[in-house]
Amino acid sequence: MNGMNRVLIGTSWKMHLTWTEAVAWLRAVRPLLDSVDDRDLFVLPPFPALEAARRELEGSGIGYGGQDVHAEDQGAHTGDVSAPMLADLGCRYVEVGHSERRRDHGETDPIVLAKVRAALRWDLTPIVCIGEQTRGRIDRARSVIETQLERGLGPLPMADLERVVLAYEPVWAIGDGAAAADSGHIEVIHAAIDAWLSARGAKVRRLIYGGSVNLANAADLLAVPRVGGLFVGRAALDPRTFAAIARIALPS
Ligand code: PEP
Repeated sequence: MNGMNRVLIGTSWKMHLTWTEAVAWLRAVRPLLDSVDDRDLFVLPPFPALEAARRELEGSGIGYGGQDVHAEDQGAHTGDVSAPMLADLGCRYVEVGHSERRRDHGETDPIVLAKVRAALRWDLTPIVCIGEQTRGRIDRARSVIETQLERGLGPLPMADLERVVLAYEPVWAIGDGAAAADSGHIEVIHAAIDAWLSARGAKVRRLIYGGSVNLANAADLLAVPRVGGLFVGRAALDPRTFAAIARIALPS
């Protein structure tokens, strides 16, 4: 955990949960997590449920945010949502560059960079997702990651890099039918991300792992060197499971 902040555990619901279901989820989770104060927690609902998150999480330590943001602050961009809109709703976080956005919306590393800049302009913490597409040799994965870092974050000054959360999410480890990457693989990639940030002078860094995190593997994943938190997808759709993962014992 050297050079890291507090452990960070959160979820993106992706395109799940209506507003009504979101309210029920938030009301189920909040009492289970209200006493947790030794780590940071976040929830990224779909846009229509952000106002529900604002209301239901008011006064709690649980942060919330968007799953995407436009690079510009306003303008003729039908269907998009800007950083000032998220900031005005009390968002603390915004996810950028998830592999599903890269796949479905052609989000490239330069677009990721522009979105990260927009988030930082509005004091939102970008959670930037990086990860290789296919399971293969570790040196190939490392090179994909380093290219994504270079193109997506390379032009940022050190002070801005220190404000970014990096989520290592190997694409092959995400979603139905997938399994989490093994700890050796995650350790090598997190070390590479850590080295990349160190080489740019960043002393504070938040690296989290995502991809088939569940209650059974969460503690082991958190114990991997340089893993400073967890990003949970489908397992978190059950509020009790998310709460249990969010309360998992931290490695000593
Ligand atoms: C994700 O897509 O960011 C994710 C972590 O999903 P899952 O946990 O469902 O693999």
